[in-house]
Amino acid sequence: MDAGARPSVATTCPYCGVGCGVLARPEADGVAVSGDPNHPANLGRLCAKGMALGETVGLEGRLLHPAVAGRRASWEAAIAAVADAFSHAIAAHGPDAVALYGSGQLLTEDYYVANKFMKGFVGSANIDTNSRLCMASSVAGHKRAFGADTVPGTYEDLEAADLLVLVGSNLAWCHPVLFQRVMAAKALRPAMRIVVIDPRKTATTAAADLHLALAPDTDVPLFAGLLNHVHPTPFLAHTEGSAEALEAAARWTIPAVAAATSLSEGAIAAFYEAFAETEKTVTVYSQGVNQSACGTDKVNAILNVHLSTGRIGRPGMGPFSATGQPNAMGGREVGGLANMLACHMELGNAAHRAIVQRHWAAPRMASAPGLKAVDLFEAVHDGRIKALWVMATNPSASLPDAARVDEALKRVPFLAVSDVVASTDTLRHADVALPAAAWGEKDGTVTNSERRVSRQRAFLPLPGEARPDWAIISDVATAMGFDGFNYTGPHEIFDEHAALSAADNNGTRDFDIGGLVGLGRAGYDRLAPQQWPIRAGAPPKTRFFADGRFYTPSGRAQMVATHFQPPQKRAPRYPFVLNTGRVRDQWHTMTRTGRAPTLSAHIAEPFVEIHPDDAAAIGVGAADLAVVENPRGRIIVRVLVTARQRRGNLFVPIHWTDETSACARVDALVDPVTDPHSGQPALKSARVAVRPFRPALYGFAVSTTAFARPPFAYFAEAPVPAGVAMEFAALDADANAALKTLFGDRRLDGVTDQVAGTHRFAAMAHGRVTGAVFLAPAPVAVSRAHVIAALGTDAPLSAVLAGRPPAGVADPGPTVCTCFGVGANPIRAAIADGATTVEAVGACLSAGTNCGSCRAEIAQLIAAAPSAKGAREGVLS
Ligand code: SF4
Repeated sequence: MDAGARPSVATTCPYCGVGCGVLARPEADGVAVSGDPNHPANLGRLCAKGMALGETVGLEGRLLHPAVAGRRASWEAAIAAVADAFSHAIAAHGPDAVALYGSGQLLTEDYYVANKFMKGFVGSANIDTNSRLCMASSVAGHKRAFGADTVPGTYEDLEAADLLVLVGSNLAWCHPVLFQRVMAAKALRPAMRIVVIDPRKTATTAAADLHLALAPDTDVPLFAGLLNHVHPTPFLAHTEGSAEALEAAARWTIPAVAAATSLSEGAIAAFYEAFAETEKTVTVYSQGVNQSACGTDKVNAILNVHLSTGRIGRPGMGPFSATGQPNAMGGREVGGLANMLACHMELGNAAHRAIVQRHWAAPRMASAPGLKAVDLFEAVHDGRIKALWVMATNPSASLPDAARVDEALKRVPFLAVSDVVASTDTLRHADVALPAAAWGEKDGTVTNSERRVSRQRAFLPLPGEARPDWAIISDVATAMGFDGFNYTGPHEIFDEHAALSAADNNGTRDFDIGGLVGLGRAGYDRLAPQQWPIRAGAPPKTRFFADGRFYTPSGRAQMVATHFQPPQKRAPRYPFVLNTGRVRDQWHTMTRTGRAPTLSAHIAEPFVEIHPDDAAAIGVGAADLAVVENPRGRIIVRVLVTARQRRGNLFVPIHWTDETSACARVDALVDPVTDPHSGQPALKSARVAVRPFRPALYGFAVSTTAFARPPFAYFAEAPVPAGVAMEFAALDADANAALKTLFGDRRLDGVTDQVAGTHRFAAMAHGRVTGAVFLAPAPVAVSRAHVIAALGTDAPLSAVLAGRPPAGVADPGPTVCTCFGVGANPIRAAIADGATTVEAVGACLSAGTNCGSCRAEIAQLIAAAPSAKGAREGVLS
């Protein structure tokens, strides 16, 4: 078959909540991917992760067949094993003895069926999701203020704003295409101002007119002080609770805010003035707000200000929650959290339960909220949950107190795991492994941060025995004797979901996509991206609440008296506050992005960002290794010394697991502390200590074939174009043992410098480089780019062992621009030659001219150049 002749399929990116449209075309040697120029979220743009999607669709490492008790099994046997385990647990211990833990990676149709199964047929609301870790505080804040989980505005509002306030959001790295839209708008309207509120300097703060590096978890005083400062508008008549909210905020004078946040009074006043004088203001907030023990109050402190000033629901103004996951919003729509019911209805509302029960013909409706993620896994640990089904997520790595969660998964009497990959930290405990369809193979819808429903379309055949999640759940439900799960395709599920959204609605509930009922298979396949609400017979509506009508019983918005919980005092033994988050080119636990050499070129190791003064006090320098620890656990990561970090604060990325590193699951250090309203864990404020890790031997190795998992105290593995690369360190100085561990009996040629204690060896086969390894008693100083480029080529042995390019050939250094593979060194050279703007660097090297994700880092390199004035910041290297 001439695969190259196939047309492109319009689908949606499976990563962040921006929800970019993607054109994917299977070709003879892979999948060609480009941005969909007709998708309103991205208008053709993609970030580096989206651009690299074609590198992630191979079948290596895929889970392709069901397994029961570790042995390949038929689908019939696997379905029966799950159905039996659930049925027996329910019969013996009641419906709350079983649970399902899902993911914002699931498509809306998968999510809908999972919720119907648990809440309508099993009769338990013990179904929660990793979205609990992501934006549950925004949901709780919206519901308190608006009476519904409604995102009032759109992406266009961010572009139309005269003042954009980004709170706890590294938009440049975590929502790159949305950030590029903002940057393009600012380039057209330079008067647009950007304020970034974040404890650390990031790629986003580099673009800010004002950066407020507040102390962690002090957003409530900052926004309560702002509420004091702004003048209410007549819109206040559409609210209630303003007197209580203002009374709670009264203590937050500017000096009091300064004392709480550690910001200067001048900086606070500048922010307050900018907000007060700018009607077209949008406040975007993300994980820095949500992932906190006071996340819901932070959300409401922000919403209070927008409600008081009436800056909501009109073009260029409003609060805006940027969701982390591709279908976090779809999960909310189907009631994918343990305290919600389908279609934004309430579990605690008898009328809502009756609507849903009728629609599903449900025999056993859950009537009370189930266990939220952190409590759910505690119930797994203490034995209350007898049978658990995990879908499309990796709680062993991503939940707080990850080691205890891992132990819980070992203990639970029955664990089923649906996943697309054959090996994860969670899957290793599964009694039943269920191969699920992956991106490119599955078919359904997702909803992005601006309420836009888009189709994900299959463009690849289902591999092996993989099946869509909705079909797997439906088969288990049917095997348990439940009716109502005989869907022939996702279009039927979507139709049922759309009809439920409109049932007895009549404008009383925000979520209504009744206008999409009756599409049929053909209409569903053609479905263009569109924002809800999509009410049958009603005119299109883009924004909510400008009319002052809310979904509370009174119809008025509720302003909330917010309370400041001073951050926990630092224990002398654990003096650092640990922030966790994402890096630009990786996604979650790297089960997909970790397969793409292009993406690993940006940052290939787990690291801890630490302020230079703290690094000096501890005795660690750049490229050293450090132990970050507390009584819950320890990790070993590379040290990145940078003044971007506040003193006393650390940052460690969330992506590395036991699959890709020796000991870098950062969530093992996080306390299972949650927000009292949302149940969202405080993932950004663990208390930890740091100390140097002093191995006897450091190493860097590459190979065209995979390395077996080594017993080294530290390692991090990453894909490279011709194979894999590994950074490692061992407590034992035995170089021969290290070589044997990595290369077994493969022949290695090279040199040892006995005086320096260094070793350089390479493996050659048929004139090609098949491996290389460099060992030293200190961090290995070789050009990674040079060695990686030599792998798989006919480069001479001497060139490989040199460990650096020959004279006259520049070492590119760490990759900055992933799209064009441009390293930091050529960018520095271009700057030295006079390219003093990001555009000029782009004109010289193309860097930053495609997806734009690296433009902030290029700007940082320009600022760091010896000729630059102002801040001196280095790029991550
Ligand atoms: Fe995907 Fe990047 Fe778009 Fe997010 S910004 S949806 S990761 S292409």
